[in-house]
Amino acid sequence: MSSLIDTHFHLDFYPNHNIIYQNINKLRQYTLCVTNQPEIFESCIALYPTTQYLKFALGYNPKNIKDVKFNKKSFLNNIMKTEYIGEVGLDFVGKYKDNKSEQIDVFNFICEQSSKHCKLMSIHCNKAEKEVYSALKNSNNKKIILHWYNGNQFWLEKFLQLGCYFSINSSMMNSIKGKQLISNIPLDKLLIESDGPFSKIDGKVFTHDKLYRIYEDLERLIEKENIEKIIYSNFKKLLLI
Ligand SMILES: [Zn+2]
Repeated sequence: MSSLIDTHFHLDFYPNHNIIYQNINKLRQYTLCVTNQPEIFESCIALYPTTQYLKFALGYNPKNIKDVKFNKKSFLNNIMKTEYIGEVGLDFVGKYKDNKSEQIDVFNFICEQSSKHCKLMSIHCNKAEKEVYSALKNSNNKKIILHWYNGNQFWLEKFLQLGCYFSINSSMMNSIKGKQLISNIPLDKLLIESDGPFSKIDGKVFTHDKLYRIYEDLERLIEKENIEKIIYSNFKKLLLI
């Protein structure tokens, strides 16, 4: 039986989300569907029941900072409806860096709440390592996944010291920097994500039936067998923290 896990997937970004929801359950692929706003989380859980395989994470994507205000009330109303928080984080690249302090306030609040309620977080960190690190350190949450991490070795080590896990996708494995970073992550801190539809497999937008390919690519890259078992046990350990 398959025990593939995708720890970061955007179901609501696929026009045929209804069919995908059904297929993921049929394939028995454990999938964490992140959301970019608390209101979207609300719509998702109203449309689709949570199953053994498919869960929704309550999120606020920092890239929304200019267009959509963080709805604190909706976040608090929904936090007890899930064990997962994501996509959340900080993005200090391009136009998003104009709203640094606003982003930090929102992220600190989300970290405090997640820690208080012991929720697992899937975090976006783009050129904001120092601030993400201090928010995580201050809130002292141990259930952390850094998703599509693209920082440097110094910060990788700092995040490892905090006990963070790292979810790897196919686009990361296609870049030299990504490959280098992956080779420096301990085996027991590795997880797999698709970040579908924002990553690519063979030059095409990721689809859930290609999840096994990310596992195969990682096996080849780090020259380890049974990566499916390793990832499964890593995720299980993370859930029990
Ligand atoms: Zn994402």
